This record gives sequence, C-alpha cells and structure tokens, in this order.
Amino acid sequence: MTTHELVDVTIIGGGPTGLFARFYAGMRGVSSQIIDALPELGGQLTALYPEKYIFDVAGFSKVLAKDLVKALVDQSRQFGAREHLNQRVVGLEETDGHLVLVTDTARFPTRSIVLAAGIGAFSPRRLPQACAEPWYGRGIHDVMGDPAQYHGKRVVIIGGGDSAFDWTAQLVGKAARVSLVHRSDRFRAHGATVSEVMQAVARGDADLFTFHELHDVLSADARLAGVVLRETKTKLTKEIPSDVILPMLGYVSDLGEVSNWGLNIVKDEIVVNSEMETGRAGIYAAGDVTTYPGKLKLIAAGFGEAATAVNQAVHWIYPEKKVAPGHSSNMAIFGQKDD
Ligand SMILES: Cc1cc2nc3c(=O)[nH]c(=O)nc-3n(C[C@H](O)[C@H](O)[C@H](O)COP(=O)(O)OP(=O)(O)OC[C@H]3O[C@@H](n4cnc5c(N)ncnc54)[C@H](O)[C@@H]3O)c2cc1C
Repeated sequence: MTTHELVDVTIIGGGPTGLFARFYAGMRGVSSQIIDALPELGGQLTALYPEKYIFDVAGFSKVLAKDLVKALVDQSRQFGAREHLNQRVVGLEETDGHLVLVTDTARFPTRSIVLAAGIGAFSPRRLPQACAEPWYGRGIHDVMGDPAQYHGKRVVIIGGGDSAFDWTAQLVGKAARVSLVHRSDRFRAHGATVSEVMQAVARGDADLFTFHELHDVLSADARLAGVVLRETKTKLTKEIPSDVILPMLGYVSDLGEVSNWGLNIVKDEIVVNSEMETGRAGIYAAGDVTTYPGKLKLIAAGFGEAATAVNQAVHWIYPEKKVAPGHSSNMAIFGQKDD
C-alpha cells in the first residue's frame, strides 16, 4: 500500500465545492490534495449532468456544467495541487499527531480534512440482469474511458438519460454501429442531444429501441458477440450483434465509512456549525454533504462554505495565520501588491 506525503489539507471530493476548496488552500499558501472515488473531477456536474446549463452561478448568465468544471479545475490547479482519482476513502486513523485517510490502495497523511463528499461516493448503477454480471470488464463497461476505444466497434448503449444520449451522439459515425436501448420512450436527457440522436436514427446512422430491455448476452469464442433485447410490452425478443455494451443507468451514492468517523450525521448529512466544524478536531465539511439551519444544496452555497472551511483549517493548523484571508485583489501570490 502506497503512503503519500503529509499535506496540510486533504479534500475528500472533487466536486465544485472540493475544487474551490483546493483553490482556497493554494491561495492561503498551504499544501493540499483532492481524493475522489470517481475517475474524473467535477462531482455531480461531471457524473450526472455535464451537458446541462446552470443559470445560478455568480458571474455566469448561463454555463454548461462541464465548462464550469473545467474553469474550476483550471483555477484550482494553478497552485499545482495534487489529485488522486479512482480512490474511495474508507478509513480514518490518527498517527503521530496527524490524521491519515485510507483508501483501498493508499494512505494519505494529512493535518486537516475538508469533507466535500456531496451525496457520497458514486458508483455506476449496475444492470439488474444476472446475465450481465460475468461480462463486466470483458465487453460491458460502465466506466467509459477514452471514446476512441469504441471506434469501429458495434456498440449497444442502455439508458435514457444525458450520458446515454451524449455517448450515442458522440459515437455515431465513429463506432461501426450504435444502438440505443431504453425501457420506455421518456428520456431524461438534454433536448438538443435527443434531437441530434433522433436525426441520426432517421438518417439510418443509429438504432433506437424504446420499450426494450436487456434479456441475454450472446457470446462466441468466449467473447461478447451480441445482445438479446426483449420488448417490455409484447415480450418478443430480437438479437443485435455487438462487441460492446455500455450501461448508462446513472449512479448510486453512499456516505459509506464516513458515517463511522464519530461525526454528527443526521440523515446522511454532516451537521456543521458556522465555522464548518464537524465536532472532530481538524475535520471540516462543506457543500452538499453538510447540514445546518437554512442550508441550501446549491453550488453557490458550497463555494462560500469551502472558503470558510479552508480558512478555518489553515488557522487551526497554523494559529499564527489569520482566519480572514484578506483580499485576493491585493495578494502577492497573484503578483499584486501585498496588503
Ligand atoms: C441534475 C442536477 C442539476 C442540478 N442543477 C443545479 C443548478 O442549476 N444549480 C445549482 O446550484 N446546483 C445544481 N445541482 C446541485 C449541485 O450539482 C450540487 O449542489 C453540487 O454538485 C454539490 O457539490 P459538492 O462538491 O458539494 O458535491 P458533489 O458534486 O456531489 O461532489 C462530491 C464528490 O465527492 C466524492 N466522494 C464522496 N464520498 C467519497 C469518498 N468516500 N471517497 C472519495 N470520494 C468521495 C464523489 O465521488 C463526488 O465526486 C444540480 C444537481 C443535479 C443532480
């Protein structure tokens, strides 16, 4: 198991709150790192609605979720902070006067923690059909990775949300064939992407099977060779030759082991005070994971809470550093005249 270097602030969660917390840690001149269970930064914005516009983030009349993530990542990387993706935090220990966060493969010593864990660690919702289980990683992929790996392949996408439509639109003309399968004709995807896919279907460049679900997986020479789809109403089946199945059924989330860290947790939310303290020394929380009277689960609220949590953490680690950060517009770290 790898043991990483001791840092000042470890942020659990690379959603908007965690990304802004990392920026703030850098601005305050302390070392930081982000740990996230997902393969990409951005939290709910990346996992659940990358193609949706957001209208209530200060300074933007409207911004695509994925563009907001990109801006937050760029802003927060300017201090070279570290990020550890695909790492789900499961344990918390105390050693030699500091805290240690533990994932399945690594240990992360840290002087303080900002929990920006949102609604908990996400994992892709799995296909309910038992026939699918042996094929995960061998033809069924729920972590998509590089789109180029599907070029030239016959791809079956299962789902009716943004991810299913985004990937269908993205692979039309690049995959050998794209078939989108959904168990109803109601879609939860961005209208523009639905239209794009419908046009591809009308042109004969893609197939759409509404009111269908996976019934069986076909194999040849121990490789995935196709799917059997079943119509939900008539129960009639049809075979579709395919090389790859991409289930896009959303995510399930879970606060997991964090619930056992002795924090005050009510209904999967961490109770914090106005300093974003959790009740356990050195552990602060911000964003959707927190609760207090008047709490709003919004990106804008998470940004303010991230600033409070990090400034408190900095003061807790280095009492000589003030809580109030001063004005960024006057800071030497940005090449401005220091106050
Ligand atoms: C469809 C939709 C539309 C929305 N529209 C808006 C909108 O218009 N305006 C608005 O303000 N808000 C909107 N929201 C809400 C907004 O997305 C959330 O308020 C915001 O994402 C919260 O940010 P966060 O960083 O606190 O948490 P999240 O975005 O949930 O990020 C938390 C991160 O922590 C990680 N994590 C959790 N537990 C662990 C662990 N144990 N180990 C490692 N990593 C962990 C997760 O993997 C995740 O990446 C919308 C939400 C949805 C679902």
